[in-house]
Amino acid sequence: MVCVAFFSYYHVIMNTPKVESKKLSASDVSGGETLLSRVPDGMRGKAVAAYVNGELVDLDRPAPNDADVRFISADSAEGLDVLRHSTSHVMAEAVKSLYPDVKVAIGPSIENGFYYDFDKTEPFTPDDLENIEKRMGEIIGQDLTFERRELPMADARALFEKFGETYKLELLDEIEDDTVSIYTQGEFTDLCRGPHLPSTKFIKAFKLTSIAGAYWRGDEKNRMLQRIYGTAFADKKALKQHLQFLEEAKKRDHRRLGRELDLFQFNDEAGAGMPIYHPKGAMVRTIIEDFERREHLRRGYDIVIGPLILKRELWERSGHYENYRDLMYFTEADGQEYGIKPMNCLAHMLIYRSKIRSYRDLPIRYFELGTVHRHEKSGQLHGLLRVSAFTQDDAHILCTPDQLVDEIVGVMEFIDYVMGVFEFPYAMELSTRPEKSIGTDIDWQRATDALKFALERQGHEYEINEGDGAFYGPKIDFKLKDALGREWQCATVQCDFTLPERFDLTFVDADGERKRPVMLHRVILGSVDRFLGVLIEHYAGAFPVGLAPVQAIVLTITDVHIEHARNVVDELKRAGARVEADFRNEKLGLKVREAQLQKIPYALIIGDTEVEANRVTPRALGGKNLDSMSVEEFIALIRSESSVFWRE
Ligand SMILES: [Zn+2]
Ligand SMILES: [Zn+2]
Repeated sequence: MVCVAFFSYYHVIMNTPKVESKKLSASDVSGGETLLSRVPDGMRGKAVAAYVNGELVDLDRPAPNDADVRFISADSAEGLDVLRHSTSHVMAEAVKSLYPDVKVAIGPSIENGFYYDFDKTEPFTPDDLENIEKRMGEIIGQDLTFERRELPMADARALFEKFGETYKLELLDEIEDDTVSIYTQGEFTDLCRGPHLPSTKFIKAFKLTSIAGAYWRGDEKNRMLQRIYGTAFADKKALKQHLQFLEEAKKRDHRRLGRELDLFQFNDEAGAGMPIYHPKGAMVRTIIEDFERREHLRRGYDIVIGPLILKRELWERSGHYENYRDLMYFTEADGQEYGIKPMNCLAHMLIYRSKIRSYRDLPIRYFELGTVHRHEKSGQLHGLLRVSAFTQDDAHILCTPDQLVDEIVGVMEFIDYVMGVFEFPYAMELSTRPEKSIGTDIDWQRATDALKFALERQGHEYEINEGDGAFYGPKIDFKLKDALGREWQCATVQCDFTLPERFDLTFVDADGERKRPVMLHRVILGSVDRFLGVLIEHYAGAFPVGLAPVQAIVLTITDVHIEHARNVVDELKRAGARVEADFRNEKLGLKVREAQLQKIPYALIIGDTEVEANRVTPRALGGKNLDSMSVEEFIALIRSESSVFWRE
């Protein structure tokens, strides 16, 4: 029974058109009606779940009396979660039907997709994935409902014991409730909170994407399971767009490009997550690091260098031993324990403390390209993006409270300049005091206000993450956006109240009193290694001239051109250009193709014309031929294209 009153309560929330809201009045509900029957016309076939008084539930729940109901469509964030989680159940059913001996572990939705972990002796192959997809298609075609049941704990245990699902029994061990919910579609029953789709036909576009190993509960001591990743979208078009994005991301994968372009390696003989830079990778890093040194000196920073290992007692004093020990490596000599630094701050504190500081000396800005080691779990390592050893472009600024805003503004302008040089758009987030924190209310207020004030003075838009600051102070995080629209955390500027206190740092103020300086930790690129990984993917390995490890390659057509070509190479090198030579007695086409695969910005082909006129004809990466020019003109060209990265 749908009355007029029902429609008068119904309205669309303007800002979130994918979610629809209405209030059901007591007179609206007739016996046995479900939420599904109440889906408004415009959302029929699209609504996949609903919030009832704030709780996300299945649509086969009874339509409630007088409750606030918001329907969730498949293409909203919550709807995609429900869709993907349901697709993971369908995948588990398909796997169980094809491989009955497999045990199922967990299968959540994740960002951009879902996975399910399976215990299976034989590894899954790409062919298996195809078969599983096919079977999933059949299950979806049967339009099976996802039925929810609540069972007393003992019944649930008996059920999963009967199924032989030992992982589910382990999960049940940890649940303290008297009852648990299970969901069944077709032949498959899972322990699950839900909610799920009304039925399998709501899965309109899905794809299984990859297979990976995963330890049960993420613990290396446990059994290694096989994880199948997949994704699902509200419609085929959105899925296609996503798959194209994945394809593009795969092409740009910095781990593959790092190998192909001979930039770096990871080697288990050396240690997991420890990048080893080959000449070309080291060259790109050197270019970036030299640029950073120049820019820091220009902005009133002093370059400092601290040791890689420092005594354990110092880490205890700083609080790192207490808060950070699990991530640190330790070593020992002559009965003294040392910690390998996971951060660069401590040596900088000691430099500051090495003499009496006056207010006239402040601000002091110490900059170090500091290599740190952090013990990451092997499952979390990911090429250069997540490593155990990396170099930060780290600085610590010590200033008077009065100078704080100007210092923060200076850092923000610096970051803006550097992001501009790399042409990255970026966004900012201010993180405020967390529940667990140290420092006085006044300290926090002053530092948070300074960060806010600096953001507003610059006229920047920013988001606020309430309670997400470090325990030692508030911070601003910067996220850059790459060519594929992916966001990467890079710069951060953080206030710190602990270290000046713990190291008893002081300055003598104008009134002759000893006072505490305020301290900022800040990085701009963050981890230089990670930034390099981002750059490789951003440029798809084709570095612009200023960053390219090899800017030009000189190619000879025949051996008679070698002498002249050698002179060209020498002249370019003398001018500071990064140049390679390929004088092999190979076909020119092959040499050009290889240069292009190496993504070298310019190939200079030397033939009779070039020798006679004493000129070069640059061919740009991508095949465009430039007009012939003298070597000096070519140097001027790459020099101007290198802009801030040019080094004499
Ligand atoms: Zn589930
Ligand atoms: Zn620091």
